[in-house]
Amino acid sequence: MYLARLELQGFKTFAKKTVLEFSAGKKDRRALTVIVGPNGSGKSNAADAIRWCLGEQSMKLLRGKKSEDIIFSGSSGKARAGYAEVTMVINNEDGAMPVDYSEVTITRRLYRDGDSEYLLNGKPVRLSDIQLLLAEAGVGQRSYSVIGQGMIDHVLTSSPEERKIFFDDATGVRGLQMKRHQSMLKLRKASENLAEAQLLLSEIEPRLRSLKRQVKRLEKRESLEVELSELQTAYYGTLWWDLNDELTSVQESLKEVSYQIDQKKDELKKGDEQLAQMEKAAKSKQDTGSSSAHQAYKQAQQRLSDARSKAFEAERALEVSKVRAQSTWAPLPLAQIIKELESIMGMDEASGVKKLLQMVKKLRDRLTKPNPADVKPDAKLVKALEGAKKAVVEAQKLVTTTEKELDKASKSSTSTQTEVFAFQREMRRIQGELHTRENEKNRIKIDMARIETRIEGLDREMKEALGTARATITAQAPKTRTRGLDEKRSRMLSLRHKLELIGGIDEETIAEYK
Ligand code: ATP
Repeated sequence: MYLARLELQGFKTFAKKTVLEFSAGKKDRRALTVIVGPNGSGKSNAADAIRWCLGEQSMKLLRGKKSEDIIFSGSSGKARAGYAEVTMVINNEDGAMPVDYSEVTITRRLYRDGDSEYLLNGKPVRLSDIQLLLAEAGVGQRSYSVIGQGMIDHVLTSSPEERKIFFDDATGVRGLQMKRHQSMLKLRKASENLAEAQLLLSEIEPRLRSLKRQVKRLEKRESLEVELSELQTAYYGTLWWDLNDELTSVQESLKEVSYQIDQKKDELKKGDEQLAQMEKAAKSKQDTGSSSAHQAYKQAQQRLSDARSKAFEAERALEVSKVRAQSTWAPLPLAQIIKELESIMGMDEASGVKKLLQMVKKLRDRLTKPNPADVKPDAKLVKALEGAKKAVVEAQKLVTTTEKELDKASKSSTSTQTEVFAFQREMRRIQGELHTRENEKNRIKIDMARIETRIEGLDREMKEALGTARATITAQAPKTRTRGLDEKRSRMLSLRHKLELIGGIDEETIAEYK
């Protein structure tokens, strides 16, 4: 490694660009360059330029007072320079400088306004980068590599501390010292950052704890929601399809019994026509007693049938009202329960234990699902049913009386009439069967109304609990039906309460926690 070229421009006496080439000489006999000139011609200025370029900061060592003293200050024939620039071109073919270049150029530039810059191979760098590079190559701006005027004197007369700097430069310890210094600075910066980070941590830790709690709640909420959703699908799916299957089977029974009724009615109609002819034939021979008794009997039958229809309607209305009352029951919302409890707690002592117990019992009743048997039906409906039942009993009595009349008439009958009576008896038997079927039909219809009302109620509940998910349940029957619906229902309600207690958590909390 050796200094191959020195370029100066605007530095002290070197007003215009001056290039000094230093020959390397032969390999084993290095060249020596000597600059000669009269006193004050600027020989020492060339050495100053090298030292300045290597980063010298002391103006005293550069034989000046202020930094701009090194910029060419003008002469009688030349105007002063705006800046000073010195470039050292170092041959690094032997790699003494720890960089991957065979030639290294170091430039220092200073403007009159005080702006200055260092360039390493044409790229701006910091002074410390150059200092470190030079120190690693064993070239220090203070070291013996540049020995200025009076420096030998200075070395001889310097204090031990000052002299140590020379030795440090010479032994290469200087580079390590600089590295250590920089590392210390970095270390100090790092501990400052660490302290800052610790402060930040202590500030955000309590907030993090609170966020963690909330996010945990959210996770809990999610798992409860999944459980609830699965439970609801199983529960409502089974209930919905069980009820629909029941409805289908009841509808089939209704169809069957309606067909049987139609057949009986047909038989009766044909029988009536035949009876009318038989009575006509008998009438020409005998009295009309039996015919009028039969007429009365038929009227009584009609009355009974009408009364039964009315009773059936009344019973159906009553049953539907009971099912509806039960299926529309819903547990009180949590907020309402809390409100009621607060009002109980806020009761005056003077109101007494009895009143308190009454209120508690009332609340308990409202929180318990009513038993169908305990549902109090509408009084009007009950009264209507009672009236209808009474009418049925009376009509029944009338049928029995007219039947007896008919029997009496048959005993005093002629042989032609005997045939008529026998036929009438057969008709009565068919009529009896028709009644049995009609009763059965009415029972089936009541069952159907009950099921339909339960389906209605369930559908309302499903819409409320499932929203759009309801459609998936009603679209297709589940592969397996679940059992233990009562336990499932109470688990479902308890999950809903838990979710209500947890409440909602907004998305921002999760983002903040993340
Ligand atoms: P000697 O042989 O006496 O040591 P020298 O050849 O080493 O002399 P230098 O000391 O390098 O000469 O140069 C001194 C000269 O440089 C002085 O004449 C001084 O006026 C001139 N000089 C110093 N600074 C500037 C500047 N900024 N602008 C112009 N001239 C300057």
